[in-house]
Amino acid sequence: MIEVERLTKTYGRHTAVREVSLTAPPGVVTGLIGPNGAGKSTTLRAVLGLTRPTSGTATVAGQAYRDLRFPLHTVGALLDDAGPVPERRAADHLTWVARSNGIGRARVREVLDLVGLEDAGRTRVGRYSLGMKQRLGIAVALLGDPQVVVLDEPMNGLDPEGIRWIRHLVQQLARDGATVLVASHFMTELESVAQRIVMIAGGQVRAAGTVEEFTDGYDSLEDAYFERAGGQRR
Ligand code: ADP
Repeated sequence: MIEVERLTKTYGRHTAVREVSLTAPPGVVTGLIGPNGAGKSTTLRAVLGLTRPTSGTATVAGQAYRDLRFPLHTVGALLDDAGPVPERRAADHLTWVARSNGIGRARVREVLDLVGLEDAGRTRVGRYSLGMKQRLGIAVALLGDPQVVVLDEPMNGLDPEGIRWIRHLVQQLARDGATVLVASHFMTELESVAQRIVMIAGGQVRAAGTVEEFTDGYDSLEDAYFERAGGQRR
């Protein structure tokens, strides 16, 4: 379970998110949707203890991230950041993360299999395609077999086969009981993967509920999205 309550984050005079409240329950995929600059990453970073809220709270499994005893066992995350240095081999990177989190080597092989990189573990990350890098990022997220999984724009740069793979993976994680929160600025991608939608725009929650509730009263999913975003088409 992820719970965000009245989260506000300001940078100087700029408010990135204002009074954002949302819940991601276990056993379903929750999609966090909104245009670029809406406040999705800020919200996820607060959940992951990477940014300190100006006010409000964000908890994972009932605790603030910094209070988790074994963070990687509780929550795994894919963020839009640099990843490992290009010279490093994928398996070595995973082994390093595993070791610093008290996770055994056997799990490294398991997650490589899980993300379809079983034949690419010895390859240097610099030679990976974007899709392979995303898979490696997801392998890191799953290393601790966490009950909560947070993925920021996991479909970015993936080909249709990769998108289909991620869709199946997150749905399987949710079926196995995990809390899954996926942020994206592509409504159509989230529609096919999420059972629940939270939409933020301009740093505020504009809608939250099932996909059916989200589109209720609108001609199409696209209309529901763009009208709530304030008519700004991208
Ligand atoms: P999204 O992930 O939905 O694209 P972000 O959470 O990254 O949106 O950004 C929300 C707003 O906060 C944007 O206006 C962005 O420019 C601003 N912002 C995010 N991080 C910082 C930061 N470290 N310093 C200043 N402004 C920031």
